[in-house]
Amino acid sequence: MYYNYSDNSTDMNKEALYGLNEIMKVYNSVASYHINDASIKQTLGKGIFVCRYCGKAKPEVSFKSKAHAIPHFLGNNVLFTDRECDSCNGKFGRMLENHFAGFMHLEHTISGVRGKKGYPKFKSNDAIIETTGSFVDWKDIPDENLDYNPTTKTLKIKQKMPTFIPLAVFKCLVKIAVTIMPEEDIPDFQDTIAWLNEENHGSGNFNLKRLWLVHGKSSTIDRFAELSAILVKKNVTGPADMPSMMLRLTYSNFLFQVPIPLCKKDNSSLKMNIPYIPSLLDLEHGFGRMKLTLMDMHSPEPFKGAEIDFTFNDLDGTSTYEIVDAS
Ligand SMILES: [Zn+2]
Repeated sequence: MYYNYSDNSTDMNKEALYGLNEIMKVYNSVASYHINDASIKQTLGKGIFVCRYCGKAKPEVSFKSKAHAIPHFLGNNVLFTDRECDSCNGKFGRMLENHFAGFMHLEHTISGVRGKKGYPKFKSNDAIIETTGSFVDWKDIPDENLDYNPTTKTLKIKQKMPTFIPLAVFKCLVKIAVTIMPEEDIPDFQDTIAWLNEENHGSGNFNLKRLWLVHGKSSTIDRFAELSAILVKKNVTGPADMPSMMLRLTYSNFLFQVPIPLCKKDNSSLKMNIPYIPSLLDLEHGFGRMKLTLMDMHSPEPFKGAEIDFTFNDLDGTSTYEIVDAS
């Protein structure tokens, strides 16, 4: 990694550094994990075998499967936890991770995020997409979903996303935060855990009106070098209208930032002000390179048929693209 100090983007670097500096006055990192090909295996709460989610211990509940602290499909196969029983692990996989995987499936295929079964293959009624990591093979796309602009030499492909529940996507991120959270902070998040445990999305005891997710996407050539999860905690002197804890997850071309709801220390009637934690990509290139979207994810209703546009530039300079007729 290098920084080009003579580059004109330095002003943007300053802006990101200023933002980071402001955040660091109010928040401290209490957990931070960085996963890459060289990472060694690590187990949180090793040998403890008391489940953080249902409160039960071995042998009342089993801990036979290795619970991933960050889901496997995000590229983690080194960070595990002994604080999650098999039953809770299975439940969160079905209830939360499946929705997050659905929400990001298409993006993961195109960006080549390796999961349990290698690169995820995307199959729907209107396309089959596969990747080798450097080459994306997109089959059976209806013509109306293709839009080639010969002037700008860009190809735009419209694609429908799989169905997902926004609330479950948000909860999946909060679940990661609770999993990597230091044990001493857990007593403040008992309501958060009860909310994560609710089996029927949206019909439990907690009815949260707004759940803000900061979702960032970088251009395909700017990538995070590793999968990182960072949990930050507000200082005791921090402003009351900022959340006690926030999680930031970055990997491949993506960034996610969420406040951790239902902390005992937060005043739920206050309108929360959520500061953005600048990432390495912001520091290198400025805010302009990371496209940020603020999404309200409180809906417990399945979100069907959402569409995303992917734009491909003429990166190799040959000014060509080829549609291969598979029939
Ligand atoms: Zn459990």
